[in-house]
Amino acid sequence: MDIHEYQAKELLAGYGIPVPVGGLAYSPEQASYRAREIGGDRWVVKAQIHSGGRGEAGGVRICSSETEIQEAASDMLGRRLVTRQTDSRGKLVGRLYVEEATDIAQELYLGIVLDRASERIMLVASSAGGMEIEEIAVEEPDSLLRISIDPAAGLLEYQARELAFGLGLDSRLVNKLVKILMASYRAFRDLDATMVEINPLVVTGSDDLVALDAKMSFDDNALFRRPQISELRDRSQEDPRESAAADRGLAYVGLEGDIGCMINGAGLAMATMDMIKLAGGAPANFLDIGGGASPERVLKAFRVVLGDANVKVMLVNIFAGINRCDWVAEGVVQAFQKLDVQMPVIVRLSGTNVDEGRRIIAQSGLPIITAETLAEAAEKAVAARPTAEKAA
Ligand code: ADP
Ligand code: MG
Repeated sequence: MDIHEYQAKELLAGYGIPVPVGGLAYSPEQASYRAREIGGDRWVVKAQIHSGGRGEAGGVRICSSETEIQEAASDMLGRRLVTRQTDSRGKLVGRLYVEEATDIAQELYLGIVLDRASERIMLVASSAGGMEIEEIAVEEPDSLLRISIDPAAGLLEYQARELAFGLGLDSRLVNKLVKILMASYRAFRDLDATMVEINPLVVTGSDDLVALDAKMSFDDNALFRRPQISELRDRSQEDPRESAAADRGLAYVGLEGDIGCMINGAGLAMATMDMIKLAGGAPANFLDIGGGASPERVLKAFRVVLGDANVKVMLVNIFAGINRCDWVAEGVVQAFQKLDVQMPVIVRLSGTNVDEGRRIIAQSGLPIITAETLAEAAEKAVAARPTAEKAA
């Protein structure tokens, strides 16, 4: 789960990380009221969306009067902001964060991520902050410093100090950075985060360090024990297909094709998407219905996939181990009875109770297309797409 910049800043500030003074606004009037509250004569109005790259997309505006603030706020509020990290629809701007403008001497990059290769938490930093990490890796690879954190020992002060010196910081700033690094790591661990990114962390004109931007993501599987984090969820930032699936306990990722997929097991789902591509089609989603899927669960999954207007064909691919083909088949039949299924449905069943499953499908009298192998199922799904779509 992702959260907004202002929420991440509030959490990090709670761990002692310095952030600019700021306030949230839902309207232009509120934005200028916030500026008055903050004081000073330069402010930054920042669109709160779950994406980076806002600056270059017009989502971060420096203002020096209340009129400018109101203009910036009414430009942004209610619009969808497209950044290079969003899809072409962009994300809805429903909240703004108004901050004091900080006098920037240098921008640093700081990230704490999960490194799957080493199975450890990794601290990444660079003196080329402000840019996205991918660009830094290409354009300033030498500036990238990495520290692998031992899970038993945690981040150690000497590692943090080494990193601070590695960034070429003035000795007066080293201790401040060490504090920020230790605090970021604590926040990451304590809150079950999967990512903490402060970009930029700036050196100010008066030689202080301040987090000007902050991004945090959390482990969905740990949210049950982090109610204060769960509360920060903002559904307006999520793909509605994905939120609907998550509410039903289904692992779902929305994609851009037109073949709706319902599969058990993440590996089989990936393989099926590959086979669809190989056959010349494109999947509309990744959906893992999991092990031991009851007919009710299959029906729920059908509902989620059919809720996507892009879906023109439905492909059910089950390799039942813990699952039972007969339950899945019953779920498919129920879907036809209870939902308005107007599209070709291809079903491929294999594994536990497969004979019973196939019998249920055959005896249902429904126009279900069956397949024996994964390759055959993918080809039939691609072939079953409406012709206009295929020509396009
Ligand atoms: P994003 O990463 O989504 O583009 P940032 O919050 O990093 O958004 O803002 C982009 C840039 O805007 C920063 O790199 C920084 O130069 C500037 N900026 C952001 N917040 C402030 C602030 N409070 N004061 C001065 N400049 C800021
Ligand atoms: Mg940023």
